[in-house]
Amino acid sequence: MREVLPHEADWSIHYGEEIIRFAVRRQPQRHRGSIAIHVEPPGRVVVDAPHDASRPTVLAAVRKRARWVHEHLASFRRRHLHVLPREYVSGEAVMYLGRRYRLKVIPADVAEASVKLCGNRLEVRSTDPAPAMVRAAMEAWYRARARAVFAKGIDDMLAMLRWKPAAPPMRLQAMKIQWGSCSPAGRLTLNPWLVKAPRDCIDYVILHELCHLKEHNHSARFFRLMDRYMPTWRQRKARLDELAEVILNQ
Ligand SMILES: [Zn+2]
Repeated sequence: MREVLPHEADWSIHYGEEIIRFAVRRQPQRHRGSIAIHVEPPGRVVVDAPHDASRPTVLAAVRKRARWVHEHLASFRRRHLHVLPREYVSGEAVMYLGRRYRLKVIPADVAEASVKLCGNRLEVRSTDPAPAMVRAAMEAWYRARARAVFAKGIDDMLAMLRWKPAAPPMRLQAMKIQWGSCSPAGRLTLNPWLVKAPRDCIDYVILHELCHLKEHNHSARFFRLMDRYMPTWRQRKARLDELAEVILNQ
């Protein structure tokens, strides 16, 4: 008999900045101490455990294989990305701050390619409308927007925090599976593609990284800070998780 017990539905471990969620199937016929981990497409992690395996035992078993699980999840994600290559041509849907826009590529006699939001369109003007040029222009635009939106978000959030951290240095780095990180020295790294997500989700990532200035780990104290300053962070995170594939499809 296989079942997922409702009270055990919320299983997860941390691997770097990633939270790996999984389901546990209790199998009374399994050998004591034998725990099997499966990663199924499109990215579901299932753990088969004996009926009497304790929560710490199951968590330890998954942590031990966290790298393997992470690599499997990343490879599913890459395969998925492969299926839907972006073409950088007119008509394609693009995202910015959680809204969908239509890409319009306009051949124009301009010194430098330009990108502009106009109604529900993202207009790219370039002498050369080749996809590689459009892509480069869009990436530069996303980075510039990301820098401005994140800087404002960090300022707003800092003003709210009671322990008043100094403004941390911030840099952008495109990443495939991570939205941000905070170095031990207190430097924030944020993924420029995050600017495609709704502001609610961006603020969630910013608060997460700012809380690391006080708690450099994912301890209970860290999550208490998150709860205090953003009681809705779990919903925001869930929304961002759902958007991840679309947003990271570059
Ligand atoms: Zn973190």
